[in-house]
Amino acid sequence: MRYAVFSDVHANLEAFEAVLEIFKNAPIDKYLFAGDIVGYGANPRECIALLKGLNGICIAGNHDWASAGRMSTDYFNEAAREAVVWTQKQISENDRLFLAGLETVAKPDGLCLVHGTLSSPEEFEYMTDGYKAANSFSLLEGTICFVGHTHKPGVFIETDERVFYRQAQDFSLEPAKRYIVNVGSVGQPRDGDPKACFCVYDTTRERVEFRRASYDVATAQRKIREAGLPRILSDRLALGS
Ligand code: ZN
Repeated sequence: MRYAVFSDVHANLEAFEAVLEIFKNAPIDKYLFAGDIVGYGANPRECIALLKGLNGICIAGNHDWASAGRMSTDYFNEAAREAVVWTQKQISENDRLFLAGLETVAKPDGLCLVHGTLSSPEEFEYMTDGYKAANSFSLLEGTICFVGHTHKPGVFIETDERVFYRQAQDFSLEPAKRYIVNVGSVGQPRDGDPKACFCVYDTTRERVEFRRASYDVATAQRKIREAGLPRILSDRLALGS
């Protein structure tokens, strides 16, 4: 089984299409989406439609629930809040219901999918350190969990003795280890590399690979500016930050 696992598209149609283009030549059995299809970018409707068309497993990110009116934007920064308000005006009632109906945790085929952490999935906590990762490992039933939210790809690894973090690099699953994989962000990477980021998990080879896709950043930026969204949301795409 080959899974494409991706997160944080953030209404960036150019990035999302570039990723899906790669999958055309590398067949995928199932798509797993770890949240935030909307927010920040200029094409929420189109990205929701593409996501629905994949017939994958989808969970909610904070931007999805905020744009659907299912959670408040009190903890959002100003640019993010502006983007939520803008997104609410763009999407249809059907789209809103789709976003509002997304749950925060999914466990397809013995895998696990959550936007932030397993210890407080509905608070969308960031999995930023070994302590939070250890809390999530204690709640993880299987061997591997995929997360997003920080927009920074990487892996927390649990051994018999400890939990440690490793920068994103391809790896094969080893016995007696468990993994929390941050798949990075398709539509707004923040690890210094502007290319769209995602993962492929091949259960036959027991291997997780990180992939990057170049896309038309300038067009995505122009659309954000033309939509009247905060300028920083356009600028940061070129920096991958
Ligand atoms: Zn996000």
